[in-house]
Amino acid sequence: MPAPDRSRLSDLLARERARFADDHPRSAAEYASARAALFGGVPMTWMNKASGGFPLYLDAAHGARVRDLDGRVYVDFALGDTGAMAGHAPAATVAAVRAQLERGLTVMMPTRDASWVGTELARRFGVARWSFALTATDANRWAIRLARAVTGRAKILVNSYCYHGTVDETLVKVDEHGAQVIREGNVGAAVDPTTTTRVVEYNDVAALERELSYGDVACVLMEPALTNVGIVLPEDGYLAAVRSLCTQTGTLLINDETHTVSAGPGGATGAWGLHPDLVTIGKAIGGGIPCGAYGMSAELADRLESMPDLDLVDMGGVGGTLAGNPVSMTAMRATLSEVLTDDVWPAMIALADRFGDAVDEVIDAHELPWSVSRLGARVEYRFCRPAPRTGGESAAAADEELEDYLHTYLANRDVLLTPFHNMALMSPATTAGDVDRHTEVFTAAVEELVG
Ligand code: PMP
Repeated sequence: MPAPDRSRLSDLLARERARFADDHPRSAAEYASARAALFGGVPMTWMNKASGGFPLYLDAAHGARVRDLDGRVYVDFALGDTGAMAGHAPAATVAAVRAQLERGLTVMMPTRDASWVGTELARRFGVARWSFALTATDANRWAIRLARAVTGRAKILVNSYCYHGTVDETLVKVDEHGAQVIREGNVGAAVDPTTTTRVVEYNDVAALERELSYGDVACVLMEPALTNVGIVLPEDGYLAAVRSLCTQTGTLLINDETHTVSAGPGGATGAWGLHPDLVTIGKAIGGGIPCGAYGMSAELADRLESMPDLDLVDMGGVGGTLAGNPVSMTAMRATLSEVLTDDVWPAMIALADRFGDAVDEVIDAHELPWSVSRLGARVEYRFCRPAPRTGGESAAAADEELEDYLHTYLANRDVLLTPFHNMALMSPATTAGDVDRHTEVFTAAVEELVG
């Protein structure tokens, strides 16, 4: 069957946006008045990614549910774009943080939680020595600096259409002619990132081999599976080839597990038996409290610590005053020890499969040219079939109007997806009933669309 009829789609989107505006007068009013004081009218400009026309304002969030200012309660599959993968306000994390709040928020001293968290992350991700940040972005920045320092090489390599936070070097892509270029819309880049970065398509082993052969790349920074241009999964042998090309060329491999932690307690690294030199992560492991972490092999840590020229203590460029603060540390400890424990993934993955199977049935029933991509507890529908195998293919499959229609239709019936793409994440608090609610509404949205 051809892609859905465009004029029908526009009419349906207009209808759904009108309903959205009617149903959310309080959020609409807050948004209208926020422009005076807030850049872009929102606390952070990405919050303008709002399919219904304006963002919903939060009242409260618990477990897999959020309630907005107009009193509507949603099944939340966005889960803070992974920041709330533990479920909103998980009891153990809240209790630990509450206790810490009475005992000091930020000091210039370590707390005992840090070594527990380091030991646990080492068990899960297989790299021995850990350090902390407040965001995954900073974890990536600092991991890149350390990789440059230890290899003495200037460049890094990333995959086209990757996202690793607002890290300057990573905002590059391969264009339709195969050229390495700055990403469109890059805000105030200090230098053209193609001078700092080599970029290849995900799953393209030949391009990786070529770009690493110059011997000037300190590290490959990658998600084991792309998640930020929609999910793109590795082909057979791809990740093994990445590892061996890095080893052959003396290039360090950094796995950014910030989103791929959906694959298992040790992320894709643990689930797929990968062997990176460094791992970066943030978001989920703090249960919603700001945190980030980067880990490296003991051998790498020893080499770095024995380099006398590196200022790792003061103004050298690796550091943040509030990084490793007691609140973040206790949040990570509680979340890892009591909420996102090893045993919760099988049920979350089963729910993601239930979600994906149901969407597949709808796609097949209507012979839509769509597909479903699965990454452990994360699942997504794509407007192409077969599923894309590179970032470029994935970007080309985007359809903003169709996405907006589905997101708004779902939101109007109390189901939220991640505002970017069509991604759904399961938490320990998500239930089969939540998934079935999505199935019911998604089915209705598609039936109206295909007529
Ligand atoms: N790495 C990955 C893979 C991400 O998806 C993101 C954010 N979506 C980041 C890093 C940056 O996270 P933060 O914005 O919390 O720093």
